This record gives sequence, C-alpha cells and structure tokens, in this order.
Amino acid sequence: MLTVTDLEKRYGDTRAVSSLSVTLEAGELTVLVGRSGAGKTTLLRCLDGLEGPDRGTITLDDGPLDSTDVALVFQEGALLERKSALENVLDGGLGREPAWRELLGWHATDAKRQAIERFHAVGLGGYADRRVGDLSGGEKQRVGIARALQQEPRVLLADEPVASLDPETGRTVLELLAEVVREESLVGLVSLHQPTLARPVADRYLGLERGRLVLDAPAGDVDEDR
Ligand code: ADP
Ligand code: ADP
Repeated sequence: MLTVTDLEKRYGDTRAVSSLSVTLEAGELTVLVGRSGAGKTTLLRCLDGLEGPDRGTITLDDGPLDSTDVALVFQEGALLERKSALENVLDGGLGREPAWRELLGWHATDAKRQAIERFHAVGLGGYADRRVGDLSGGEKQRVGIARALQQEPRVLLADEPVASLDPETGRTVLELLAEVVREESLVGLVSLHQPTLARPVADRYLGLERGRLVLDAPAGDVDEDR
C-alpha cells in the first residue's frame, strides 16, 4: 500500500501538486487523469524520487518510500534506439542494481536469463537481439515495460505510456500494464489523457485539476456515470 500524505510541490508561484493525499493498493491499476498542466507528471516524478516535494510524506507499507522500489515507464519509452532490446533492459536494470544481488552472488548472466524470461512475459519472445530502433511503437513500449520490471519494483508508474500509439496498440499496452500490476502485486499508477482507453483495465481513477485531487473513485463508479 502506497500512502501519500499532504504532498505539495511548487515551481515558483505554481503549485504543481497541492495538499494531495491518497492511498493506492498493491495489485491495482490506478489511472491518473487531468488536462495538460494539471500536475500529473509532477506527481509521478515526486513518487519516483526525481523531484523532492516541498511538503508531505510518501510511505510504502510502513516505511518511507525508497526510490529503488519505484520504476517509471516513459511516454516514448526513452530507449537507446541503436541498442538491442536486451541491452536496453539490462542497462535499465543494472542502473539500480541493488547491492544485495552482489552479496548473493547474482551476476550478469542471471540478469540476462531473467530479462529473456521477461521478454516472453511482455509478449516479445524472440525479440531480445532486435535493435530497438527497428521496433514498432507498441513493441518499444513493451521493451520499456520489461526494462521497468527488470528493476523488480514494488511500484510501477507510467507517464502517458500510450500517447504516441494508435488506440488499438495503446489498449494492448495498457492491458499488459494491468496484467503485470495484478500478477506481480505492484502498486500501479498510469497517467493518461484519453481515459476512455483505460476503461477495460482501470481499477481506480484519480483526477487532478491545478495540482488538486478532484476525483478519487473506483472505476466501477466512474464508468457507470458515462
Ligand atoms: P501534467 O503532467 O498534468 O501536464 P505537469 O506536472 O507537467 O502537468 O505540470 C504541472 C504544473 O507545473 C504546470 O503549471 C507546469 O507548467 C508546472 N511545471 C512543471 N514542471 C515545471 C518546472 N520544471 N519548472 C516550472 N514549472 C513547472
Ligand atoms: P506501428 O504501426 O505499431 O508503429 P510499424 O509499422 O512501425 O508498427 O512496424 C510494423 C512491424 O514492422 C513491427 O513488427 C516492427 O518491428 C517491424 N519493423 C518496422 N520497421 C522495421 C525495420 N526498419 N526493420 C525491421 N523491422 C521493422
């Protein structure tokens, strides 16, 4: 369970996130909606530890949230186009290699074997050696998800992960995110500006307006209103 209490992040006079409190459950995919400028990216960056909030606390279960427990999937995947899918996943994973792995004698070969298993899990079996620059948009986003999972996060965040994809491809990427969040019992939070795409997979919706939380509801309640 991820608990955000009274979070605030200002840029000069702009309150990008204002007095925000919310609890997210493991195993649920929460969809974060709001217009451009509402504060979605800022909230995700605070959760990932990329921004230090001006006020408030973020806890995971009973301790302070550690940024090594959080993985973020970016809009365009933010992949190295000239490297293979496998190299992208390993680079991403090794960037935050926890020290305990070395203590337990984990080496690159274990990471590689695990990465190849992940490619199957995200529907990219056989793609390990393909150059990322040659993949379709949807395939790149799957590599981005595999890379995030390689960190073994407990919290999976995605900032507009389907913005550059056609609706059908976007839907399949959202389905994959929902599946991994449920199967691996992660806290999942995905920002979207086309929330209708998320209807088949969302467990919960959060809505932001000028940094404030204006909606926090189970998907069933929100979908029935439409
Ligand atoms: P969203 O992701 O919903 O589009 P953002 O979190 O990017 O919203 O932005 C929220 C507000 O904070 C906006 O008014 C934006 O202009 C402002 N903002 C975001 N990042 C910065 C920054 N690095 N410097 C100044 N203002 C920022
Ligand atoms: P999308 O519409 O999802 O972006 P694309 O038309 O880009 O899909 O790609 C369709 C298929 O062709 C994908 O399987 C992709 O991996 C493959 N592909 C695209 N460009 C290349 C390339 N330069 N070399 C090899 N395969 C490619």
